[in-house]
Amino acid sequence: MSNPPARPRTRRQSRLSGTPIVAGIGIGPVTFADEPALAVARQKIAATDIASELHQFEAAAAQSRRQLSKLSARLAGLPETAQAEISPLIDAHIHMLGNSRLMRAIRAAIAERLISATTAVIDVTEDHAQAVQGARRSTDDGAATRQADEIRDIGRRLLRNLTRLPFRSFADLPHGGVLVVERLRPADAALINPAQFAGIATEEGSADDHTAVMLRAIGVPALLGVAGLMATARQNAIVILDGEAGTLIINPSPASLDEAARLRMAFARAQHSLARLRRLASETIDHVTIELQANLELPFELPMVAQSGATGIGLMRTEFLFMNQDTIPDEDRQFATYREAVLAMDGDPVTIRLLDWGGDKQSDGSGAELIPSSHEANPALGLRGVRLLLQYPVLLDHQLAAILRAAAFGPVRIMIPMVSCLTELIEVRAAMNRVWRRLESAQVRLPREAPPLGVMIETPAAALNAAILAREAAFFAIGTNDLTMYTLAVDRAVASTHALYDPLDPAVLRLIAMTIAAARVAGIPVSLCGELASRTSTVPLLIGLGLRQLSMHGGAVLRIKRQVRATDSRLCVNLAEAALAASGAAAVHALLA
Ligand code: PEP
Ligand code: MG
Repeated sequence: MSNPPARPRTRRQSRLSGTPIVAGIGIGPVTFADEPALAVARQKIAATDIASELHQFEAAAAQSRRQLSKLSARLAGLPETAQAEISPLIDAHIHMLGNSRLMRAIRAAIAERLISATTAVIDVTEDHAQAVQGARRSTDDGAATRQADEIRDIGRRLLRNLTRLPFRSFADLPHGGVLVVERLRPADAALINPAQFAGIATEEGSADDHTAVMLRAIGVPALLGVAGLMATARQNAIVILDGEAGTLIINPSPASLDEAARLRMAFARAQHSLARLRRLASETIDHVTIELQANLELPFELPMVAQSGATGIGLMRTEFLFMNQDTIPDEDRQFATYREAVLAMDGDPVTIRLLDWGGDKQSDGSGAELIPSSHEANPALGLRGVRLLLQYPVLLDHQLAAILRAAAFGPVRIMIPMVSCLTELIEVRAAMNRVWRRLESAQVRLPREAPPLGVMIETPAAALNAAILAREAAFFAIGTNDLTMYTLAVDRAVASTHALYDPLDPAVLRLIAMTIAAARVAGIPVSLCGELASRTSTVPLLIGLGLRQLSMHGGAVLRIKRQVRATDSRLCVNLAEAALAASGAAAVHALLA
């Protein structure tokens, strides 16, 4: 990603609009963030520099081998089947980082074509990757793509070690600006320090993709999908970002700045008045308790969540642990993170979701490179969530062991993502029992009983099979972000079709109602933890549908509590019936309005 070309400076005010993601007013200079690491400048070198470039290259290759050997050593403690899966991959990478054809070609490119080590790594790995794909296209596409990607992975590791820019980093950018980027991946967003920026704006992205979820966790005023952003914004130009109205004003007039200052004060006052709700009960006018829990995406949210008035964590996404890492976090590291969350919630339950890797959560480039990346044409329909975990039991076993150990420190529930059939639940339970026995025989501290094991209802199949799943699941959590995507066949991460993505479509609501009914018959708890739970206007509808437990990003809990306290549940039932019978999403919106 590069900054737009220089243009004569214009100080005229211009106003852009985007999708509101995080409410609040951010005022500051535009701060661009270039894509680092892989966007390394191409460089020719003089013949006298060959030796030093070769030296740098050898050092980066040696460091890469050391990183992988360390990882290999850590695998030694794993069950044999797990080792059998991952070891060959690591060994192949170590081998290729030795005196392989790839390495020899990079050395030759530096010496003969007089290009820098970084340029040689970029060019040669790409040439080799393409050659592999080209040569094998006709025979085995999948295997060729995998091999080509492995070559690119090796290239990326070498580049990171050469440039010492580990992953995309915002840390060196000035404080107080409005971060402006073309595209932000979820893994990038996970690296943002909330105290660093007054606002965040991107040209791509939409309200329900995983980056949006991350930004809500970060809590800085933010807009996604701001059309024309990169062509209009200039480094250091002052902007006003309104994360509620969805506007970005570049070079604001004095009148716009005055208005923004007024709005910012009003927003701060509103936040302050919400804080008074913290100690009040979350119950409707007619005294029905609606339990409000928090979703946790990133560890730094923990103190805020613990103070948010939430009565537990309804969804702890664990993907952040695996993003921007050279290696998969081991059992002890995961255990430390989960235990911290359990201790911070001080007796309130923590629902830890097993890794939901794949789809829009998978980072390309950085990320836990040893988690097998899917190369399917439709990754959202491929090896995602529980499917990946069952195929790579080493991931599942480590995570289950870490969670079971953390459960000795307070109430924990375990939740399975992307379930579509009963077998998946049964297989995960078998894995959990196996891990439990292993830990028990090693005399590891465990809770008295295994934690409840529940499933996310986020595929139409799960909702349609809810009655069957409810016989075996300890609880349900409805994930409307994915349930909407899969029901309406609209990608949650694609802006161009986002108008079609609507969780209030009666088709989605009927699946939600079906799930709640099945949970009720089986007598198991059911919550809703998709982004829909944080929309104030839908609270009466969700209550009318029968939900008594909602989980949302921590910043929304008090706002939703205020709405709950202003709602009469007796009036909500008719509203829900009307919505379920509605002809389309527009009719449901009209009912809520
Ligand atoms: C969902 O799909 O609604 C959900 C909560 O999971 P995620 O957004 O992490 O996919
Ligand atoms: Mg989901």
